[in-house]
Amino acid sequence: MRNVFYRNPGHEYPSVVGGQGVYLYDSEGREYLDGSGGAAVSCLGHGHPEVIAAIKKQLDQLAFAHTAYFTSEPQEKLAQRLVRHFGEDDARVYFLSGGSEANETALKMARQYWIACGRSEKTVVISRHQSFHGNTLGALALSGSPGRRDIYAPMLQDWPKIEPCYAYRHQEAGESDEEYGGRSAEALETAILELGAENIAAFFAETVVGATLGAVPAVGVYFQKIREICDRHEVLLVLDEIMCGSGRTGTYFAFAQEAIMPDIVTVAKGLGGGYQPVGATISRGFIYRQIAEAGGSFTHGHTYVGHAAACAAGLAVADVIEKENLLDNVTKIGGVLKKTLEEMFADHPNIGNIRGRGMFLGIELVRDRETKEPVSASLGLPEKIKTGAMSNGLVCYPAGGTADGREGAHILLAPPFIYNRDHVDELAGKLKKTLDSIDFA
Ligand code: PLP
Repeated sequence: MRNVFYRNPGHEYPSVVGGQGVYLYDSEGREYLDGSGGAAVSCLGHGHPEVIAAIKKQLDQLAFAHTAYFTSEPQEKLAQRLVRHFGEDDARVYFLSGGSEANETALKMARQYWIACGRSEKTVVISRHQSFHGNTLGALALSGSPGRRDIYAPMLQDWPKIEPCYAYRHQEAGESDEEYGGRSAEALETAILELGAENIAAFFAETVVGATLGAVPAVGVYFQKIREICDRHEVLLVLDEIMCGSGRTGTYFAFAQEAIMPDIVTVAKGLGGGYQPVGATISRGFIYRQIAEAGGSFTHGHTYVGHAAACAAGLAVADVIEKENLLDNVTKIGGVLKKTLEEMFADHPNIGNIRGRGMFLGIELVRDRETKEPVSASLGLPEKIKTGAMSNGLVCYPAGGTADGREGAHILLAPPFIYNRDHVDELAGKLKKTLDSIDFA
């Protein structure tokens, strides 16, 4: 008798019984190289002794006390650590149990900020097509992911979406990165002017788009222009770094590589590295001050906000990343991985583009490399590649809808930051073996 409500009732899931370093093991004794940290979660790999010891120590002392009554050292220290990375001394951190909650919190923070400013008409939130911000109804309303949204559409806020900055498909021949980045950002200004800046509370974007596009960074001045447009029209800029943050692109926050600062940034996944469910919504100081000065409290909260054991895990993960200089490894080995894939798939007729930063890489699959014709959704390639890779001993994260939200596919790679060159070769070899057995037409 089985009682689990499985993600896909038609699928047989192997039972995972162990994990060590970059490998996972199932109950049949099969070994899997972790090439995606599940969905960009396991940044330190599995079984890290220091993180486990820190969680055990915290559990011995205290597992949980409700944040309506207490604060705790783990949440204070983790907040200080994140604010140091964020780069503004008086920024504030609200801890959650995952990414969707972090984005719901960002939405409500933006709303309450504008109410505190006496601008309660600012209720509309703009986001982008081919984005994913979470599966709770608010975060899903933000998400431009038809496959995840369609059946819930009648229950979602119908907020406006602009096109993403997606050079492989939208940059024109002869157009430079600077020109395309600038042109792409202008879509936000057009949308704000159409809807009336007085109605717009915030603009949400993933700094590097993860699950829906496959590690697509913006190009040129895109985010600098976005920042200027948000400032000009008094719209809060919220960056979703749930996947791409916490060091995955080689800097603690991905926005550091865009030379801008958001008003709110959300992180999760790599924050706890899978050792505990933890996410965070980080706001600039002026947002917190405005809400505080308006009196009352933030009208929000979940039972497990600021969970002591979860924050202790987050702190231990951040400590290990710093102590072991892992961001250098993310840049170095991530670069080796990208080059290895580019060389290995240089002549592959169905690999149109390899992109990404650090250890956050995407491989876009196409039917025709010259015309960039997307692979057909009807082929169900993501599922075939996922199961094919697992039977070859590899966990990677393929997904569909890359080209326009419905057609196309990609494979997302987000390995643990502790990868070495041998792991890179093993991943590339297993991926090649998997793709060699796939029919793309
Ligand atoms: N935002 C982004 C960019 C994500 O990739 C995800 C999950 O994949 C989420 C939000 C939602 O996070 P969670 O699944 O932890 O709720």
